[in-house]
Amino acid sequence: MAAISMKNIVKLYGDGFPAVNEVSLDVRDGEFMILVGPSGCGKSTLLRMIVGLEDITSGEMRIGERVVNKIAPRARNLSMVFQNYALYPHLTVFENIAFPLRLAKVPGDEVQRRVTETAELLELTEHLERKPAHLSGGQRQRVAMGRAIVRQADAFLFDEPLSNLDAKLRGQMRTEISRLQRRLGVTTVYVTHDQTEAMTLGDRVAVLRRGVLQQVGSPRELYEEPVNLFVAGFIGSPSMNFLPASVDRSADGASLHTPLGRFELRDPRKAAAIGEREVVLVGIRPEHFEDALLVGEEKRLRGSIVQARVDVTEWLGNELYAYVPYEAPPDVAAQLRDLSRELDSDQLRTQAVVALDAGSLITAGHDADLWIDTSRIHIFDPATGTNLT
Ligand code: ATP
Repeated sequence: MAAISMKNIVKLYGDGFPAVNEVSLDVRDGEFMILVGPSGCGKSTLLRMIVGLEDITSGEMRIGERVVNKIAPRARNLSMVFQNYALYPHLTVFENIAFPLRLAKVPGDEVQRRVTETAELLELTEHLERKPAHLSGGQRQRVAMGRAIVRQADAFLFDEPLSNLDAKLRGQMRTEISRLQRRLGVTTVYVTHDQTEAMTLGDRVAVLRRGVLQQVGSPRELYEEPVNLFVAGFIGSPSMNFLPASVDRSADGASLHTPLGRFELRDPRKAAAIGEREVVLVGIRPEHFEDALLVGEEKRLRGSIVQARVDVTEWLGNELYAYVPYEAPPDVAAQLRDLSRELDSDQLRTQAVVALDAGSLITAGHDADLWIDTSRIHIFDPATGTNLT
């Protein structure tokens, strides 16, 4: 096993655009690290540079004690599982898993022992004599994983290994990979664009955008303390609502005028963080709203209640999503447009999504009183996207 350490890693392709831009990231020995971000953010390129399938333009890549920039892929002792796992159709499951050991000329009895152990770990024992065509998608994926873990590699690298599976199987495999990684305790880097995978699998998650590392932290840290609009909007589902707000200052603090209503900022630190800004974006996660009728007295006092017109509801059995359309006042919208280079258009939605208890009786086409847990709101600088809270 080995730690992986990246220092100021840059990748320029032919067109001179940095696909990976000054990324510094330390993956600890035995850690499960997720690289996540939207399509094109550079996560696969970064993974390919770890493995050695892509040259590093500048920066330093270390695996354990060794600088590996100039070391050939096969001398790095890493094992990779790709999105399109290619099994050999004419070989049995046993021989597919044994393949890397045969290449390395491992003696027959040791091959037997290691393949048997790996198959047990992946619950493939009873399928060892089958050919890939006679396996389910999930079983094939496990064979591909078996082939990766049968070697005693210093680290495992996964490039979107579950993206070809259906949703149910993906959920199942997620748990299996998680269990397997904990059992083996091998340093693992796992690339995905799926925030659910990112949140559920890893010890820590590194969020990339346009080649730049935005934040590294535990899933909980990213959810509770996102450093900027991008991370806040990317992590969590449905994603955070960003409401345009103008700021009113008074002697004892500040209040925020949003299209959903006015919030008093009771926390003096939050008021101070706004500084002299006249407009901000208020981030509220859908799950930090509740149906005010279902909220007890003590809780009411801790938050704010706003009246909102719900135009669509979706009842999911365990939750009720309510959609609240709004319009930003034209002057606030204009100021935001001037300020925000950081905003993607979908971050300035014109509706808020609210996730309520399934027992809520709120219905479409009516006004509803919504309670907001104001202790959990975030305030963002619209010019830079930075989280001010
Ligand atoms: P996806 O999830 O779609 O695979 P990604 O986050 O893994 O995306 P990369 O594949 O690392 O992104 O690509 C990062 C950027 O580098 C993209 O803008 C892509 O177009 C560009 N890129 C990738 N490979 C090459 C290449 N061989 N030549 C030129 N540009 C490339």
